[in-house]
Amino acid sequence: MPILAALLVVILLGVAFAPQWWVHRVLRRHGVERPDFPGTGAELARHLLDQAGLTEVKVEPTEHGDHYDPDAQAVRLMPQHHEGRSVAAVAVAAHEVSHAVQHARGEAAFALRWRLARHLGWIDRVASAMLVLAPVVFIFIKIPLLFALQMAAGLLLFASEIVIHLVTLPVEFDASFSKALPVLARGRYLGASDLPAARSVLRAAAWTYVAAALATLLNVARWFRVFRF
Ligand SMILES: [Zn+2]
Repeated sequence: MPILAALLVVILLGVAFAPQWWVHRVLRRHGVERPDFPGTGAELARHLLDQAGLTEVKVEPTEHGDHYDPDAQAVRLMPQHHEGRSVAAVAVAAHEVSHAVQHARGEAAFALRWRLARHLGWIDRVASAMLVLAPVVFIFIKIPLLFALQMAAGLLLFASEIVIHLVTLPVEFDASFSKALPVLARGRYLGASDLPAARSVLRAAAWTYVAAALATLLNVARWFRVFRF
């Protein structure tokens, strides 16, 4: 039995952390500086935004992960992608610009994803609180039905979190493969020999949110955050 339990823990840790480890590895492998590239990720993002007529969208550096902020209308890139000249910098810049294009076009999937994401923090906290408090409630009030109901509510909230990620993935794949990759290939921003690497980076960029969410699921610090309501 202890062996089975240990195996289960190893599998759980693998499922939770392997995707994020893979995303980091892909971005690092293709983050090698390429002096032959004409510009940085930030310069390419600016150029692609202008080409799409999105001159009002800003390009800014950030320390909190590459993303597009629809409220601030800003494409934000990590320093290595903002200042860097690499396949990763080029592909990530094109991916985040694609989110700005989705926003500007009022694409339904993007709008839905963004509305749901606003509620993610709330759902997350309530779900975590219910799962953590369920055993405590059972110790003080020995009503098994109440405990079962609380567990069910907690699991239901987690399920809704999974739905948000299922809505996110099509938006991410659209940004990477329906928008960024064709733009990079058609505009000859990358040579044919660099396109397979760009494809890997774009795949990793699409999975970033889901990979991060899986990792936080087993993040112990998160359980303690629950109590700071
Ligand atoms: Zn994205």
